[in-house]
Amino acid sequence: MTARIREFLRTRREDGPCVVVDLDVVRDNYRAFAHALPDTRVFYAIKANPAPEILRLLAALGSCFDAASVAEIEMALAAGATAERISFGNTIKKERDVARAYQLGVRLFAVDCLAEVEKIARVAPGAKVFCRILCDCDGAEWPLSRKFGCVPEMATDVLEQAHRLGLEAYGVSFHVGSQQTNTEAWDIALASASAIFRECAERGIHLRMVNLGGGFPARYLKPVPGVESYGDAIFRALSRHFGNRLPETIIEPGRGMVGDAGVIEAEVVLVSKKSEEDAVRWVYLDIGKFGGLAETMDEAIRYPIRTIHDGDDMVPCVLAGPTCDSADVMYEKVPYMLPVSLEIGDKVLIEGTGAYTTTYSAVAFNGFPPLKSYVI
Ligand SMILES: *Cc1c(COP(=O)(O)O)cnc(C)c1O
Repeated sequence: MTARIREFLRTRREDGPCVVVDLDVVRDNYRAFAHALPDTRVFYAIKANPAPEILRLLAALGSCFDAASVAEIEMALAAGATAERISFGNTIKKERDVARAYQLGVRLFAVDCLAEVEKIARVAPGAKVFCRILCDCDGAEWPLSRKFGCVPEMATDVLEQAHRLGLEAYGVSFHVGSQQTNTEAWDIALASASAIFRECAERGIHLRMVNLGGGFPARYLKPVPGVESYGDAIFRALSRHFGNRLPETIIEPGRGMVGDAGVIEAEVVLVSKKSEEDAVRWVYLDIGKFGGLAETMDEAIRYPIRTIHDGDDMVPCVLAGPTCDSADVMYEKVPYMLPVSLEIGDKVLIEGTGAYTTTYSAVAFNGFPPLKSYVI
């Protein structure tokens, strides 16, 4: 919570939950990444928070962008990024969207199978492609499934096919899982990447780039290592596996760039109990899973919550959203400790909510409007 956000909220008059993002924090985060990984290009993962003010700031600071759709490519261009600073990083693309991206000047594409390589070869001749490999997400609080990437053994064939079809087989990518709290998580994936570099070289294909993905954490309830520790661990792993022939590298931070730049202000709608003897109170907010807090799914991400009663006695609470869907419960398996004095109408501040909130909020489920966003 920054002084600027506190001041903004003090003077806000409108009703309903909102997220406020402080651009000073985003700027500091960008500089911390650039400093911790000085030889690495930063591709901000637009999906984490595509607010135009954030994209414009990052474009001006020199950031590149990881886009997952033509719409995100257009947002990056509108923010002032040139097409050579944009990567189409989604491995699942319609051929006509690849063609559209190519027309817009994008020349860097992710693939993880032969069929996707063929699409790109047909409509984006000569483009650079990198092959995403599966990666074990141990240590990540928001793990990514097997949806993206192929086994490392297959990547060589995918890249060789790209080369045969006239594309530039450019490198390898992976994502160690979001909110990755283990700084060593990159090591195994980099071992696989260097093996793919060697196998491709034996086939006469010289890869140049490793895309280290995202995964850099935001600060929630538990402390996390600083970005410098990630930089050191990644540099050590790169040296271990590539010797002194280090490849070009890029990172794609989303959460780590904007997560701790945002705070949600919400309101307590109801405090109740299910029976007289119930030790656990139910606290219903005017925001829930469908209003922007989708990452509380499986209680994966536990946001810090501040109230005006902090310091009073705490009681275990089930925390739920306002909609008529019974899935709209944020924390129940592990109840959330909140002050016993918390009352209907009180405001609460949900911290670390700059990433994956506005983009996850439903348009009008139960008539609730999408999460309002202010970037200051
Ligand atoms: C979502 C995503 C990211 C960002 O991940 P974070 O864990 O938020 O940093 C980076 N790269 C790709 C390809 C992604 O899909």
